[in-house]
Amino acid sequence: MKLIVATQNQHKKKEILSLLGDSFEIISLSDLNYFDELPETHSTLRENADEKATFVNNYFQADCFAEDTGLEIDHLNGAPGVLSARYAGVQKNSRDNTELVIKTMEGVKNRSARFQTVICLILNNKKVFFGGSVNGMISSYPQGDSGFGYDAIFIPEGFQKTYAQMDFVEKNNISHRKNALEKMKAFLLPGQAVKQ
Ligand code: IMP
Repeated sequence: MKLIVATQNQHKKKEILSLLGDSFEIISLSDLNYFDELPETHSTLRENADEKATFVNNYFQADCFAEDTGLEIDHLNGAPGVLSARYAGVQKNSRDNTELVIKTMEGVKNRSARFQTVICLILNNKKVFFGGSVNGMISSYPQGDSGFGYDAIFIPEGFQKTYAQMDFVEKNNISHRKNALEKMKAFLLPGQAVKQ
């Protein structure tokens, strides 16, 4: 089955290819020489995933899926949430975003947070949504060099290290993205789990 993945994020693409690549022909936007930014104008992850998938489906007239992810921090009433990419400004800089979270959370006792991902799949012009989430804590300073985005400050529940202190395979085995992709894969190929 051929599916376009509607993302410009090379890290996400790598995670998605590694989780789905054996079972599907996943074509990225860069494979199609499409490098413009996708529209993301809404106030929920679901609407943004829908918007990106709808855009790509219309543009390429092909089956596709898009995902949108947010880091929700309880002490900040769910912020940065859908604004995670732009938390520290429109430059969408991950280091600035991470530093702002660390600063905002300085001295805060309740550090609980979660990553939420919503996928919108468009197959034969019908939309199906899948969600994935992982609970965890915000660390008091960045730890680890792997991964991307907020990985260096997110400690998933049950672990003593951040996503960025895990290697690629370890994060991919437990991540919010994996949870959502697993549901999509179960829908598309009943009976097969995503790669462990
Ligand atoms: P978007 O889904 O590409 O809009 O991502 C929103 C923000 O969350 C961006 O700042 C990403 O860098 C960050 N982000 C998305 N997925 C992850 C992840 O798996 N780990 C850490 N940060 C992420």
